[in-house]
Amino acid sequence: MRIAVGGIEHETNTFAVGCFGLTELDDFHHYRGDRLIRTAETRTATGGIIHEALERGHDVVPTYYAMATPSGTISASAYQTMKAELVDRLTEAMPLDAVALAIHGAGVAEGIDDLEADLASAVRLAVGNGVAVGATLDLHGNLTQPMGDSLDLMFGCHYYPHVDMYERGEELVGALEDMVNGKFSPVNHIERLPFLTPTSGTAQPPAGLTNERCAEAERLDGVIDCTFFHGFAHTDCGPAGASITVTTNGDAELAARVARDVALDVWARRESFTVEAVSEHSALTIAKRIIEEKGGPVVMNDTADNPGGGAPGDATHLLRSILDANPERTCFGFVYDAATATAAHEAGVGAVINISLGGHHDAMHGEPIETEAYVKALTDGRFIYTSKMLEGVPANLGLSARLVIGNVDVIVTSVRDQTFDDEVFTLHGIDVTTYDLVAVKSSQHFRAGFTDLATEIVTADTPGLTSRTLDSFTYEHLDGPRYPLDPELSYP
Ligand SMILES: [Zn+2]
Repeated sequence: MRIAVGGIEHETNTFAVGCFGLTELDDFHHYRGDRLIRTAETRTATGGIIHEALERGHDVVPTYYAMATPSGTISASAYQTMKAELVDRLTEAMPLDAVALAIHGAGVAEGIDDLEADLASAVRLAVGNGVAVGATLDLHGNLTQPMGDSLDLMFGCHYYPHVDMYERGEELVGALEDMVNGKFSPVNHIERLPFLTPTSGTAQPPAGLTNERCAEAERLDGVIDCTFFHGFAHTDCGPAGASITVTTNGDAELAARVARDVALDVWARRESFTVEAVSEHSALTIAKRIIEEKGGPVVMNDTADNPGGGAPGDATHLLRSILDANPERTCFGFVYDAATATAAHEAGVGAVINISLGGHHDAMHGEPIETEAYVKALTDGRFIYTSKMLEGVPANLGLSARLVIGNVDVIVTSVRDQTFDDEVFTLHGIDVTTYDLVAVKSSQHFRAGFTDLATEIVTADTPGLTSRTLDSFTYEHLDGPRYPLDPELSYP
């Protein structure tokens, strides 16, 4: 089988445009040729696709894959440039038997609310109806029927943290091969729910319970795939919201019925998705109590400033509370502040510098922290992730520094990203298992790297672009009312 691999992957937080402006071509990482093939060594969606396709002896054609850390709306010119390259390379690669795309599902470009539907239809047009076209997606995708109409298969990851992107890539290749061999002929049904889900990990109910319902549905005769897409609540676009996506072997009625059944179950339990927001002050009090009772490390996540959801990564609300309390054996990793990291590198290890740390993007994420800091260690910010989610993926956080402010070790980087595992601490000489309190900026993905080493995890919710408090955002572009913004809403 001759299979092409490519895609454009971006989780667009439309509210972030005020923070960073539009997302441009330079903000993306671009993979072509060997660079794309080498992702087979990483636990990513393209990694799973390429590794599996090579294992099965297929002729793999790397086309073009672009991805960026979540941020604001993609500029029209950046999107059109990337789309044109993908379509051109697919056209050149013809004749093909199959196309495997790695896409997100919550992409928004200027003038295009449903990036993946637009992209999938362009891909379909380029390769024609005779080619099997499937995609891996992020469960935060805001799925729509137009996407389902252009794609034969839509394999969203099931877990949050997304530890199964690689496996979904592998599965996709197997299913595309079956399709090419005429073993089945897929139809999709996307049952959209008028529901903006707050960040919901799948290791526990309620999202974990829905995963079980999807797995049960997949055991039904004729059902190929059933996925719960949480949707991405931090994007103000027409299709934002949760959905259940079902693929069957040619049975449209079965796909619709199964999707509707699971969707009704989610809807019936919608209230259980709401989590009480814990302020940074309350979170610290809770952490202190756990440390006294069970010891450390207690891991605290700054969920509202998750760069992995489009937040700036330099909010100071939680950091300021921690520095004010000044607890011992505490580390914070990390704050995105290139100017402070550069100042630390210029001063050198052992210097004491005056810094204006974080809070450089907007008022929502807090004021800069004016303080003195001791430069403990300096690095190039490069390491390899080891958590199950991103194992093998190289990180490059740019010039980075470990500063000591009072009792607290604070890592400062030059590149914006979330914390996935403890490798960034290790790089800076910190063994987090010897600390009482470890603070990170992330909503859920950090759990893949920290759950096993934490005595407990405490989530702090502050003002921020990825806050779980959804009524703190002003939505103007949704294509209809949504729960919980409209608590009286009914479905279907
Ligand atoms: Zn996601």
